[in-house]
Amino acid sequence: MEPYDAVVVGAGFAGLYMLYRLRGAGFSVRVFEAGEGIGGTWYWNRYPGARCDVESMEYSYSFSPELEREWEWSERFPAQPEILRYLNHVADRFGLRPDIQLNTTVTAARYDDDAAQWDVTLDDGTMVRARYVVMAAGCLSTARIPPFPGLDSFRGRTYHTGHWPAGPVDFTGQRVGVVGTGSSGVQVIPLVAEQAAELYVFQRTANFTMPARNAPLNRQQIEYFRAHREELRQRERASRNGTLRKNYDESAVAASPEARRRRFEDGWRLGGSDIIGSFNDLTVDQRANDLLAGFLRGKVREIVRDPAVAAALTSQDYPVGAKRMCLGTGYYETFNRDNVQLVDLRKTPIKTFTTNGVGTTDQVYQLDAMIFATGYDAMTGSILRVDIRGWGGRSLRDDWAAGPHTYLGLTCHGYPNLFLITGPGSPSVLSNVVVSIEQHVEWIGDHLEYLRKKDLTTSEASYEAQEEWVAHVNQLASRTLMPKAASWYMGANVPGKPRVFMPYIGGVGTYRKLCDKIAAADYRGFEMS
Ligand code: NAP
Repeated sequence: MEPYDAVVVGAGFAGLYMLYRLRGAGFSVRVFEAGEGIGGTWYWNRYPGARCDVESMEYSYSFSPELEREWEWSERFPAQPEILRYLNHVADRFGLRPDIQLNTTVTAARYDDDAAQWDVTLDDGTMVRARYVVMAAGCLSTARIPPFPGLDSFRGRTYHTGHWPAGPVDFTGQRVGVVGTGSSGVQVIPLVAEQAAELYVFQRTANFTMPARNAPLNRQQIEYFRAHREELRQRERASRNGTLRKNYDESAVAASPEARRRRFEDGWRLGGSDIIGSFNDLTVDQRANDLLAGFLRGKVREIVRDPAVAAALTSQDYPVGAKRMCLGTGYYETFNRDNVQLVDLRKTPIKTFTTNGVGTTDQVYQLDAMIFATGYDAMTGSILRVDIRGWGGRSLRDDWAAGPHTYLGLTCHGYPNLFLITGPGSPSVLSNVVVSIEQHVEWIGDHLEYLRKKDLTTSEASYEAQEEWVAHVNQLASRTLMPKAASWYMGANVPGKPRVFMPYIGGVGTYRKLCDKIAAADYRGFEMS
């Protein structure tokens, strides 16, 4: 079989647009997707309550004005089924399906030095060849259930939010547990509480949860976005986090208590996570951060009736924003329900699962079902799941043993013609990821066109450029409060994973300018032949 110009791994937001961009430039492309349907993260995260924490009109492609005109979002924060419908619409509208192979997992990719081609192995043993491999497998797609003792013996039903079954799941009349209170837990807990007879929430670390204040979009909002589309999209691209969030340039520490309170109250009323932009020192000065944390804890104490439960829910041990802020709908209110009990794992850790429940150090909870909202092997998991071998047979798993090393989060030294979309070292998970995906896809597309025009066959990051970039990414993170949390940004949620702050924190706009400058300088830092 003729080699493809490019193999793309994953058919979510990133893979779909990469296919569209490369095919449009005349490259032959094959996309492999493990799911039975397209959508990536949004295909698998079909748990009750799954909803994006970026606003719908911002969390959508901007590359096609026609698409933007045609598609109308129904809510401020889109729910998973609507996002999945949108992605399916995109696939149909641009005729992408013939180049996507579903139900197919890429297991290995090996670079053939002599032929300057990648040999890509699929889970049925088939091998395909391609000049380029683009990893579009997502930052949060390798779901993780911690190896709790005795879990194998548990006879109740088990679920992971990131791998939720397609059919309906009914918890009516059941005793259900949820482990994990991150973004996924916060969304699933209130809905399961409405169904289950008893719900036990097993919390290890209390999170900071803002009310989402989701609502239907009205005509005026939709028309405003349409009328100002160019300008708004431009603002997103030049912004810190790829959204239209307003970032105030004033210090919380210097503000008067009244002014501070007013600003925080506005943020709380508005909902979503924009409150983190209400002062310029919240993410860099612990004193400022403590002021916001104090405000948020006060809100929880106003909502939650039982002071002991409120205390457990406000026992966060990290700065606000250093773990991803969660958005909830009735989250704290759920703990006022008679059928919901919070189990503080800091006080009474899980000891073992049994055949019909889970035992902590002080009690056994009888359960019919357990939901794991326990997160992901984030950012590197979906890349390293593939056995990637660069020149001389070197292994990416080995090269990243002490943490991911990339140039711009886009490429790696030793792996010619391998590209990562929103890889570690790029703004990715700290941004509206669709904006970051579009920027990477367009950059990669331009780069491959450049190589073709210059009659070049290979491109890879130089070792020096890569190491300089890694040091820069770390240095930027160290100036903020982010490394203070044992977060998945740091790899801290996976025992044994190296603790390195993985995303680039310098902002979407700054990053974009840098990438453009590098491209304009004939791809400075790249070795091409
Ligand atoms: P997560 O943020 O990693 O949260 C995992 C939860 O499981 C944490 O509460 C964690 O506690 C707990 N946990 C993990 N291992 C445990 C163990 N051994 N024992 C007890 N508890 C354990 O995962 P997530 O909630 O799936 O969210 C991941 C990311 O996906 C989010 O940060 C967000 O970027 C994205 N997401 C977004 C949305 C949205 O758009 N609204 C929704 C879902 C997910 P510790 O904190 O103590 O580790």
